[in-house]
Amino acid sequence: MSSKCNLCPRNCGIDRRIQKGYCKAPHAITAARSSLHFWEEPCISGVEGSGTVFFSGCSMGCVYCQNFDIAHQNFGKEISIERLCDIFLELQNKKANNINLVTPTHYADKIIEAVKLAKQKGLKIPVVYNTSGYEKEETIESLKDTVDIFMPDFKYWLSETAKKYSNAPDYPEIAKKAIDKMVTLNPHLVFDKRAMLQKGVIIRILLLPGFVYEAKRITEYVYSKYGDSVIISLMSQYTPNKNTDKFPEINRKVRKKEYENLVDYVINLGAKNVYIQEGSSADESFIPPFNLEGI
Ligand code: SF4
Repeated sequence: MSSKCNLCPRNCGIDRRIQKGYCKAPHAITAARSSLHFWEEPCISGVEGSGTVFFSGCSMGCVYCQNFDIAHQNFGKEISIERLCDIFLELQNKKANNINLVTPTHYADKIIEAVKLAKQKGLKIPVVYNTSGYEKEETIESLKDTVDIFMPDFKYWLSETAKKYSNAPDYPEIAKKAIDKMVTLNPHLVFDKRAMLQKGVIIRILLLPGFVYEAKRITEYVYSKYGDSVIISLMSQYTPNKNTDKFPEINRKVRKKEYENLVDYVINLGAKNVYIQEGSSADESFIPPFNLEGI
């Protein structure tokens, strides 16, 4: 696919062996860290941790990105499909509850090959696709035998907000279709005996400071369409970075009152499968160091 890359809705149509597209990702898989991660949702991290692989580059490029060095500046190391397969197996050997692919979209085609190879070599734990939600339906469809748990963000309700912070005015419509495809592929939540998720969809809603209205519309939409067949994860951990000083309205953390307002609203909708965060989650220690560990 990446010889004329149209993996994501940016549809660059370029040959990544000789040119970089919007995501700045080269042809070869590039990753910045693989390790056990303990700060995902409880049914993903559990006690043993989630086996995260952080890929470099990103097709979204949000101004407030918390993984700026790897997403915007493409810090990372190029690795082969075989090495990615070995990384998956190493994480499984460390007792990871799952393989958690963070920002994987621009390597979706190679991930399919790496997971296939890893399964032949004994990979048994679920594979989590941890994405911005800015995905093409065809790409999601191609992952149906590879991914067990889809974990998309649903970032924006309004096109103008998506344009302003992610240069993606089509995000709301694209994300709705992509999430619908994910739920079609994985219509039920399946847990093991330890309450670890084995199959399903978790929709993450990161509350931006001052954007309670949009977050409410998103949760209302998600719950009215999918009810409790998906998990809704309400995230309060937004942290301003060195780029958000150009956007003073979001250059602060989310206020406790704003988050509580959203949580109350979602509970009043009747949603039962909801994760909420404690205030301490908005701490930079939840962002791991990108130092090529495990790569
Ligand atoms: S994955 Fe990258 S190169 Fe491919 S279409 Fe998307 S932004 Fe462009």
